[in-house]
Amino acid sequence: MNLAFNYQTSPARIMFGPDGISKVSFAADELGCERLLVLSTKQQNKTATEIAETLGSLCAGVHASAVMHTPVSVTEDAVEVVTKLQVDGLLSIGGGSTIGLGKAIALRTDLPQIVIPTTYAGSEVTPILGQTENGNKTTLRSAKVLPEVVIYDPKMTYSLPKAMSITSGINAIAHAIEALYAQDKNPVSTMMAVDGATALIDALPRIAIDQHDAQAREKALYGSWLCGTVLGNVGMALHHKLCHTLGGMFDLPHAETHTVLLPHAVTYNEKQVPEALMPVANALNANSAGTGLFEFSQKLKAPTSLRELGMPEHGIDLAARQAMANPYWNPRELEHDAIRQLISNAYHGLSPYEYCI
Ligand code: NAD
Repeated sequence: MNLAFNYQTSPARIMFGPDGISKVSFAADELGCERLLVLSTKQQNKTATEIAETLGSLCAGVHASAVMHTPVSVTEDAVEVVTKLQVDGLLSIGGGSTIGLGKAIALRTDLPQIVIPTTYAGSEVTPILGQTENGNKTTLRSAKVLPEVVIYDPKMTYSLPKAMSITSGINAIAHAIEALYAQDKNPVSTMMAVDGATALIDALPRIAIDQHDAQAREKALYGSWLCGTVLGNVGMALHHKLCHTLGGMFDLPHAETHTVLLPHAVTYNEKQVPEALMPVANALNANSAGTGLFEFSQKLKAPTSLRELGMPEHGIDLAARQAMANPYWNPRELEHDAIRQLISNAYHGLSPYEYCI
C-alpha cells in the first residue's frame, strides 16, 4: 500500500429520516434564526406554502421564484425581498434550482441556509454555485454557499414523477462515478461513491415500478446524499465537462443530459481506468460500467439520445470543439475525433457497445 491523500469534511449538519418538517424549528433555533424565507419554484409553491403554514411565526414569507440555472436577476429580486421582510435565514424546499437560489442569496447576504431536498441532484451538500447572466453560466466554489443544515426526508421525494426520479437518480450516479476516478479521490470519497451509486442502482428500478415505495425512496435519497457529498469533495472530469458544455450551448435539461451522456463518457474512460469502475459494473451486474449504464437507462425508459432532448445535429461538431477547450482533468487524454464520436453516438442514442471509441 502506498497511501497519500487529502480529505476535508464538510461542516454541514445532515438530518436524515422521517418527519423532516418537524426538524426545521430545531435547526432554525440552532442557527439563531427567527424569520425564515421559504424558497421554492413556482411549481412547488403549494408544497412550500403548506410547509410555511406549519412554521407559524418562524416563517417570514414564501418566495416561489426559483428557476433553472440561477439567473442573477432572479437572485437580485430575492435579495430585495430578504431585506424588505427582515429575513434572518433561508429555508430552500426543492431541487437544484431552488437550492441554487438559496446559495446565491447566501453568497450575497451571508444568511444561513436550511435545505429540504426534493430531488437527487445533490447541490445541497456542495460549496458550488452556478449562476447565469446575459446567457453566460459561471460556476464558483465558496464556503459561503454551502448550506448549514440539510434535512433529508424521503417523503419529500414521493411527488417527484417517476421519469424525473430516474434521471435525477442517474444525475447523482454520475457524481459518484466521476469521483471513482477523480485525480484527488481519497479512500473516504471512494467508499461514499461506491455506496451511493450502489444504493441508487438498487433503488431506481423499484421507484420506476412504484413511486411511493418507501424503502426505495429512502435508499435513493441516502444514495443521493453520498453522491452529492463526493461531488462537493473531489474534482469532476469529462462527463461533467460535457454536460456543462452541451447543457449551456443548447439549453438542454440538466438531469436528462447527464442521463444520456453518462454511458458514453464512462465508456470513454473505462478503457483507461477499468478497475476504478468495476464496482459500478458489478452493481449493474454487467460486464462493463458503460454498457451496463446504457442498458440500465433503456430498462428504466430513460432518454438515451441527445436528439430527443432537443439538441440540433449540426451542434455535434461545435460541441466537440467546445469540449476540447479548457478541459477538466480526465483520466484518459482527450482526443478530438473520439470525443466527436462520443457526442455523435450520444446524439443518435447508440449503445456505446456498438461503437468502439
Ligand atoms: P430542478 O430543481 O430544476 O427541478 C426540476 C423541476 O422539478 C422543477 O419544476 C421543480 O419544482 C420540480 N420538482 C423538484 N422536486 C420535486 C418533487 N419532489 N415533486 C414534484 N416536483 C418537483 O431540478 P434538479 O435536477 O434538482 O436541479 C437542476 C439544477 O441544479 C441545475 O441548474 C444544475 O446546474 C443545478 N445543480 C447544481 C449543483 C451544485 O452543486 N451547485 C449540483 C447539481 C445540480
